[in-house]
Amino acid sequence: MNAPVRIDEVVPKARANDTAAPATMVLTVAVRLQPTRQQHRDLERVSEQQRILYNAALEERIECYRKTGKTLNDIAQSKSLTIIRADDPAFAGVQRRIQRATLIRLQRAFQAFFRRAKAGAGAQSGFPRFKGREHWDGFGFDAPLQIAFDGRRLRFAGVHGGIRVSRHDASRLPQPLVAGAGGNWKGIHFKRTRTGWAATFQVEVPIAAGRGGMGRGAVGVDWGTSVLAALSTGQIEDNPRPREAASRELRRRERKLARAQRGSKRRMKARRRKQAVEAAIANRRRNRLDKLSKMLVTNYRTVAIEDIAVKNMMGAERPGEDLPEHVKRRRNREALDAAPYKLRQMLAYKATLNRADLILVDPKNTTHECFWCGLPHFKELADAEHVCTTPGLYFGKRAPRKVNAARVILKRALASAPAPERASKALSGIAKGPDDTAGRGRAGGGKPPNGGSALRRPGNTSGRRKAAADGSRSG
Ligand SMILES: [Zn+2]
Repeated sequence: MNAPVRIDEVVPKARANDTAAPATMVLTVAVRLQPTRQQHRDLERVSEQQRILYNAALEERIECYRKTGKTLNDIAQSKSLTIIRADDPAFAGVQRRIQRATLIRLQRAFQAFFRRAKAGAGAQSGFPRFKGREHWDGFGFDAPLQIAFDGRRLRFAGVHGGIRVSRHDASRLPQPLVAGAGGNWKGIHFKRTRTGWAATFQVEVPIAAGRGGMGRGAVGVDWGTSVLAALSTGQIEDNPRPREAASRELRRRERKLARAQRGSKRRMKARRRKQAVEAAIANRRRNRLDKLSKMLVTNYRTVAIEDIAVKNMMGAERPGEDLPEHVKRRRNREALDAAPYKLRQMLAYKATLNRADLILVDPKNTTHECFWCGLPHFKELADAEHVCTTPGLYFGKRAPRKVNAARVILKRALASAPAPERASKALSGIAKGPDDTAGRGRAGGGKPPNGGSALRRPGNTSGRRKAAADGSRSG
C-alpha cells in the first residue's frame, strides 16, 4: 500500500426534489493503521470471530431453507445473535454493532445472489460461500456510533487502547473528519491488507462551491486499448499496460505457488510474493488513471466519453466490428489492463467534486464516423489513420483514428447539450485548424456552477439546459 489515501467510490447523495447540486458526496478514504502488538492480536481476534459468525449464519440460513423452505434474513438472525451473546462471553465482549455489520454483509451477499439469479445467471452462480481464513478481510460497524476518532487514534470496545492512524494518512483525511465535527462520517471498515491493517472511512465531503478546476472548454475522450486515451485535442495518452510489463514475473511466481504444497509455510510465502506483484500492478494502474482523470476534469469544463456498459467495455468488440477470436482475446486482456470501468468511475466522482460535466454519448460507430463530413468511412483494424474521402471542403483531411473518434464523441456530447454557441465554438476550432494539431476546443467560460450530479446522459439535460444557455450568453 504505497498510496494510502484512496477515494474508491462515490455515492452522490441524492436529495428529494433536488435539481440543484448535491452539496456533499460520500467518499471512501483508506488510512493505514499502526496497531501495537496487543492491538494487532485484538484486531485479529475480532476479525476471526466475525468470520466464524459469518459462516455460522450462512449455515443457519442453509439449514433453515432445507427444513422449512423459507429464507432467513438478517433481522431474524439478529435475534439468534442475542442468544449467542447471552451464551458466549467471547461474543459478548465484542460490540454488537460489529456483529450486526457482519450479518448485514451476509445479507448483502444473498441479495446480490438473488439479483443475479433473477437476471438469469446459473442456479449456483454467486451463492455466498463459507469463508476460509485467506478469504476473510476484516470487519466493520453497522453504524459508527460506538467508535471514537480524535484525528489520531481510533477507539472502540474490544480493542486495548487507541489504534494509531498513520500520521501521513491522517493528514490527508478530509478536514471536518479530523476536526471531529461529528456526523460526517457514515461508516468504517477495518481491513487486513497485505502489509498490516487499514481502516476505510466513508466520509461525507462538501463539493467545492465554485469550480475546483481551472478548466475551460470541452474535450472528447476515446478510451482504448492500443492507447489508453485519445483526446479530441489530438493529445494521445499511451497505455503502459502494467500487467503485461510484469507478466513474466507474475507467471514465475504463480508457478512457484502452484508447486508449493497446500497448507505449507512455503506456500504461504509464495502467495504473499505473488500478491506483492499484483499489488504493484494495481497501484501503477490506479496511479495512471488517477492522473489522467484528474487532468481531464481540471483542464476542461466538460468531458465527453462513450456510454458503454461495463460488460461491453470488457468485451472486445465495439458496435459495428466483427473480429477474429484471437484478436478478441488479446483485446480483452488489454482492456482489463486499461481498467476502463475504473477510469469512468474516477471521472464521475472527480467531475462532481470539481464541478465539471461528464457527458456520456452513444458509442455507436464512433470509430467510422467522420468528424468533418459526418459520413461513415469504414476502416480496417490496421488502419491507424482516419482520412476524409468525401469530395468537398474536407477532402483529404486526416487524423489518427482514435483522435477522430474522440472528436466524434465530443461532437455528439455538445449536440446533446443544447448550448449552440458553445458547441459551434468548440468544434470550429478543430474543423478549421490544421489536421491533428488543431482543436483546442475552448468555449466561452462564465457558466455558473450548474446543478445535479456531474454524470449526465444526453436526454436528461433539463437542469443543464438553462445553466448552459446562461453561460453562453455571458461567455
Ligand atoms: Zn469525411
